[in-house]
Amino acid sequence: MIIDLEQDSTASSTLTADVCIVGAGPAGISLALELARERPDWNIVLTEAGGPENASQAEKDIYKVALGEKNYSVLDISRRRKLGGTSAHWGGWSKPLDDTDFEENPAWDLPSWPISKQEVNKYIPRALTWIEIDSGNFDISDIRKTQSGKLLPLRKDAKISEQLFRFSPPTRFGDRYYDDLKAQDNLTCLLHANCYELTQTGDKIISAKVRSLNGADVEIKANNFTLAMGGMETTRLLLNLRNDEAANGEGIYSDHLGRYFADHFGVRPGEILAPEGLKYSRFGDASGPIMPVLTFSPDSIRTSHEHNSCMMLQASAAPDSLLAGYGGAKASGFHPNQYWHYSIQMIIEPRPNPASTLTLTNERCALGLRRMKLDWAPHEDDLASAYRLFSALGDELGQTGLGRLHLTKPNSLDVRANVSGACHHLGTTRMAANSSDGVVDTNLKVFGQQNLYVASSSVFPRYGYSNPTLTIVALSVRLAQHLASQNGAAA
Ligand SMILES: Cc1cc2nc3c(=O)[nH]c(=O)nc-3n(C[C@H](O)[C@H](O)[C@H](O)COP(=O)(O)OP(=O)(O)OC[C@H]3O[C@@H](n4cnc5c(N)ncnc54)[C@H](O)[C@@H]3O)c2cc1C
Repeated sequence: MIIDLEQDSTASSTLTADVCIVGAGPAGISLALELARERPDWNIVLTEAGGPENASQAEKDIYKVALGEKNYSVLDISRRRKLGGTSAHWGGWSKPLDDTDFEENPAWDLPSWPISKQEVNKYIPRALTWIEIDSGNFDISDIRKTQSGKLLPLRKDAKISEQLFRFSPPTRFGDRYYDDLKAQDNLTCLLHANCYELTQTGDKIISAKVRSLNGADVEIKANNFTLAMGGMETTRLLLNLRNDEAANGEGIYSDHLGRYFADHFGVRPGEILAPEGLKYSRFGDASGPIMPVLTFSPDSIRTSHEHNSCMMLQASAAPDSLLAGYGGAKASGFHPNQYWHYSIQMIIEPRPNPASTLTLTNERCALGLRRMKLDWAPHEDDLASAYRLFSALGDELGQTGLGRLHLTKPNSLDVRANVSGACHHLGTTRMAANSSDGVVDTNLKVFGQQNLYVASSSVFPRYGYSNPTLTIVALSVRLAQHLASQNGAAA
């Protein structure tokens, strides 16, 4: 059932539920429907700030965030306030995290994922169904069998290896799952229902208070609560719950809450001359749209403690600058009609940096929630490692005689100052095995709270370069199964 609080004045002022989920983006919608289907004996309430249409100016104003010294130019476009959340304009790039993303980077002195890749992978097939990707084969060696002409013949001991992206149509969760939300008898989806307060007794959340901007107010009492409001707003509600209390405890009171804010960001360091027809960019295969990318090999990441970043190649029609630089086609042995120029685009794995923060200001939005300030601080290692990856590709091309590399934009102050994000909000409620290392436990429950959970990329403790939504949805499916296996009281 769907009730729009702005349209329907008959909505009850109190609802009771087994589980209340706040936020109906990919995380909230997949969690709510999985749970409602798994537990037909339960009532689920899903409460969403927006409606099916685009947010009004007054609604957008609720998202305003003050910026620290560093600009975060994608701030306004990186969050949508409508049913389906930011999937209203996501790009659909999808892949599971790599093996090394689950491992600790000894140079960082921070725990990585407290659950294994195998554990997350159990839920990837379901998550792929939610985002409408048919093939679950992310093994690049299978693609190599049919597409070898499009890939570099890398040496066995090369520092470089490859991984594979697939693409969602992209699924717009609000449109695609509207009818499912409406048809699900044991699910009530409230629209224009902005959560502005969680009430609690001791370590237990009792209710979520929601309201429309035109005055309808509903209190949802439930056994369990999950915040699925996107990485920034979820962090904001938790910070508001802590308010001015000291950050010297666990969960909401953890000093980790609001730290390690990260976004994937990119850089275009230069170009290469390499055999024609390489396809480290999106193309169609019998299994659907795919995109091979170049990365450090797992061995390089493990032994040299590199970041797990990736490179894509874009064939460019640039003038023959490389050939000229190497003394022309004759001297270099590269024949223009067999070799192409490619510009290189990288997606960089950000190192989790405790100095990169979301904190509360004293200004309040129309809902009465304190606003946030973002001090985005990418770690200086991020770009240094990315440039080493670029050089490693140059070494591989040089040693195999396959091509040449040309650095056009060195790692400079200017490059570092002008990186912009990819709209992925990571890390500010990190998952950990112990409350001393993070905000939520391995079941995504906030440490120190009986019945409060988080479904968002804000729980990622290490980020890799993979776009996050497939993993977000896999974690939501996993959370649905965890909650559904409980007896109804606080899980
Ligand atoms: C331009 C762009 C391109 C992207 N491309 C990709 C891509 O190619 N691949 C990829 O994996 N990811 C991509 N992303 C990121 C992707 O959109 C997010 O990872 C994904 O939407 C996160 O899902 P979510 O459910 O956690 O949060 P969201 O989608 O942000 O949903 C959160 C929901 O919570 C609601 N909400 C917020 N506050 C409240 C409140 N107080 N009360 C009630 N509800 C509230 C919001 O209205 C929203 O509906 C892209 C993002 C952008 C902006």
